[in-house]
Amino acid sequence: MQTKLLINGELVAGQGPAQPVLNPSLGSELLRIAEAGPEQIDAAVRSADAAFDGWSQTPPKDRAACLLALADAIDTHAEELARLESQNCGKPYTTALNDELPAISDVFRFFAGASRCLQGSAAGEYLPGHTSLIRRDPIGVVASIAPWNYPLMMAAWKLAPALAAGNCVVLKPSEQTPLTALRLGELIAEIFPAGVANILFGRGASVGSALAGHDQVRMLSLTGSIATGANLIAGSAASVKRLHMELGGKAPVIVFDDADLEAVVEGIRTFGFYNAGQDCTAACRIYAQKGIYERFVARLGEAVASLRQGLQDDAATELGPLISEVQRQRVAGFVERASALPHVEVVTGGKAPGDAGFFFLPTVLAGARQEDEIVRHEVFGPVVSVTPFEDEAQALAFANDSSYGLASSVWTRDIGRAHRLAARLQYGCTWVNTHFTLVSEMPHGGMKRSGYGKDLSMYGLEDYTAVRHVMIRH
Ligand code: NAD
Repeated sequence: MQTKLLINGELVAGQGPAQPVLNPSLGSELLRIAEAGPEQIDAAVRSADAAFDGWSQTPPKDRAACLLALADAIDTHAEELARLESQNCGKPYTTALNDELPAISDVFRFFAGASRCLQGSAAGEYLPGHTSLIRRDPIGVVASIAPWNYPLMMAAWKLAPALAAGNCVVLKPSEQTPLTALRLGELIAEIFPAGVANILFGRGASVGSALAGHDQVRMLSLTGSIATGANLIAGSAASVKRLHMELGGKAPVIVFDDADLEAVVEGIRTFGFYNAGQDCTAACRIYAQKGIYERFVARLGEAVASLRQGLQDDAATELGPLISEVQRQRVAGFVERASALPHVEVVTGGKAPGDAGFFFLPTVLAGARQEDEIVRHEVFGPVVSVTPFEDEAQALAFANDSSYGLASSVWTRDIGRAHRLAARLQYGCTWVNTHFTLVSEMPHGGMKRSGYGKDLSMYGLEDYTAVRHVMIRH
């Protein structure tokens, strides 16, 4: 297994303390990896800074060629990467291979093309005798810090737009799931000039904070929890770094009486429990209109109970474990507190199955009220709550009454109502009669405490550039 860091084009062993990396399906240690030492963090940032002049001046078509070559290398090694990802996350191998890997190489391909199409918005004579033009230029060294739920996908979302725009990057994957990013480092070393992309391993408190605090880092890009986001925002105030924050979510799913009930049930069975619910857009906070509420809860309970939970290599597995024992305890705590409420019914699941590994049964909690913790806080596990509502106005009020603002969905056959709600929901994304689906061309990102900055799309590329004005006196 590739366990070395990528610093200045070289694969080097970490000089910091060794950290355990686990297989969550078995709860056992896979291996130990030494994290980056302080001098290595500094060397990675300095090498990115040194590479910046050359990389930022490299014509977009040549930068694109590197990104395309990396996409091809990812496709060539897709089975190996999917195997590593599934071992390290416990997620089903077939899902990693068939859903995630193609989307990952597509992100590199999309940004390869996008890098050649950046546009300035104006050029002209706004003062007699002077020509002005707008440039979008790269920012410098970007420190990118990623979470554990989709390790390689998040590495792609961070690296591809930043590199396409001409920045140099130091990426730190989550200390819990470093294996695919470290392997990606080996592929990067064969394709990109030294220093353009660097990959470190280590914990947030040691490596992450030293990287984020480095003077030569000009931009911080985090996908992670709101707590970590707030910490980095506060820590970067004095040095006024640019920030790109993709934080948590608690997606409302509004189901009207006229919705196609079977499509909703199938949608939530899939999109509420994909990746064991460890997804910031998971369809987890369900509001069902009174007319269908009872039928919907019964059908959803049956459908969710039929989800097949198991080991990552079993082709029948639909749902793996949580990432860690800490995460399982966290999820179990939310469920215990909710099910102790007299009005909440555990329709299915509600506990850990008792196997080895960090499993928690897929769970539906019905009768939850708007003020309940289970409705208000991100669980990040295979747990959905269902709350009844009376009418459109109440559904909208419930959905927007949240500190999160990442994703939402509306299920109805009334196209006018779908548009009315889509216009008023305070979320970065609203799906109608579906949930969860992303494409490289469209932006992903939050409002409110879910953060700011976009991943994917031309907006994602623009986020990694600065708008600049050049004025020429004739
Ligand atoms: P986390 O915030 O604990 O960790 C994220 C990353 O930040 C890790 O690499 C970690 O090592 C690092 N980190 C932690 N403390 C740090 C510090 N003080 N300084 C620098 N780096 C530090 O989040 P997690 O538990 O890995 O991921 C789950 C969270 O991520 C959930 O809240 C989820 O909603 C969110 N998430 C959001 C999106 C999105 O697109 N909005 C996508 C995936 C996950």
